[in-house]
Amino acid sequence: MMKISHINLSIFASTTVSDQLLDRVADTFSDIPRISVTKLRIRIRLEDNFSFEEVFGSIEKIRANTKISEEEFLILLTDKTNASNWFSAFNQSYPKNIFIQTTDWDNFVYLDESLAVSSQIMNNILQSFIYESVELELIHGHPIGCINDFCGWKPDIQLKMKTGDICPECLNVLQAKLEDIVLRDVGKLLSKIRDMMVFHSDKRRQSLPDFETTMHTPFALTKRKISTTTDSLRKTLYAIDHFDVITKILIYYYLAKEYTEEDQRQFLNQNRLIGRIPLGRWVAALGIIGRNEEVFQKIYNIADNERIVNLRNKHRGHGYIDCCDRTYDDTFLNLNNSLTQIESLLMDLFEQYKLIRILAFERINNYNYKLKYNELTGSNLMLIEKTTITQNNLNPVVNRIYLADRNFSAIHGIFPYLIFDQCPQCKHDRLMIKDGQQYVDIYKGHFVQLQN
Ligand SMILES: [Zn+2]
Ligand SMILES: [Zn+2]
Repeated sequence: MMKISHINLSIFASTTVSDQLLDRVADTFSDIPRISVTKLRIRIRLEDNFSFEEVFGSIEKIRANTKISEEEFLILLTDKTNASNWFSAFNQSYPKNIFIQTTDWDNFVYLDESLAVSSQIMNNILQSFIYESVELELIHGHPIGCINDFCGWKPDIQLKMKTGDICPECLNVLQAKLEDIVLRDVGKLLSKIRDMMVFHSDKRRQSLPDFETTMHTPFALTKRKISTTTDSLRKTLYAIDHFDVITKILIYYYLAKEYTEEDQRQFLNQNRLIGRIPLGRWVAALGIIGRNEEVFQKIYNIADNERIVNLRNKHRGHGYIDCCDRTYDDTFLNLNNSLTQIESLLMDLFEQYKLIRILAFERINNYNYKLKYNELTGSNLMLIEKTTITQNNLNPVVNRIYLADRNFSAIHGIFPYLIFDQCPQCKHDRLMIKDGQQYVDIYKGHFVQLQN
């Protein structure tokens, strides 16, 4: 049998995947000579929770219509979820037909989604070659850091991406099928992705996940932590922290935007958001605001349906922690699902408003200020100074945090709810959020008392 000297693949997408993502995925392979990627313009419609039967049926139809050769891989990229909750799969009765999910990567790996997708493409191609030779004989049910790891627990996917390796047994099978020169190119691509993932790499900064460029910093700080561990109990606890911060900050934003200082105090008192506050009370306040604000109502409903408050009390507040971590796998996946829905509801807010910290200002006339500020976006606090002219007669205070609309015509102070100051516990400058009498260092989770 002739060994394979070139891998050809065509990619296409379901209707709501952006062209840019397709371009970025194809670009990953552009400097890999023995793997050629063709972008097809075809789009297909899919709904969430689709079945394997349905998706592989659609891919097969496209293959027949476009007359793609038998040796070529045909790969569908979709932002929709599948009934088995897998990131990707190849069709066992036609292993060159593959689908890959493009969404929901950011809680599992800290990486630009296009690279996560490219990594899945490479993995599935290699796995389908192995499958053609030895079926499922070599698939690793327990992850060993090989491209042929099964990864039934989604977070384990990080391991194979970080090793970028092929174990000796799997390599043996692949060497019988592929020319060495092709395998070298495969290695080049796997290393490229690994380089973007390992923490000490400089390249990492070029491949940030989407939320690093869209989310306001307090949300991004807690979100980022979720992807830093594969342990399901830790992931669950970080996800609860993320929800906790989302709830509090949304309430504070609302108060800052809609109420006078006096009315803010009254709202906090009426809803007993003082002293030591259980999460349930914050969520209840979210529901009260939800009577006037649809987004709040929706988030409240998601939290309520998923009983996130109960989950918190169970894992954080009361009771013992179960010693077998695997029991939290489903808990995390369900919670993650709710958080993904909640985050998508926040996108409008992030588009309409910037979170800023004022560094300096200068009054130009009665209505205009020249502001120097940092934009608080993403989890990295290495901030760039920006300047703007505001059309607003606010009384800026240096070092305070504000919510500003895109053209700086409305600017709302978030003091004293969100502050940037030295944390008394770790002595670093941190974003801290007010929680009753105390503040929480959002990055480290330190509970601290601040002197006024
Ligand atoms: Zn292997
Ligand atoms: Zn601290």
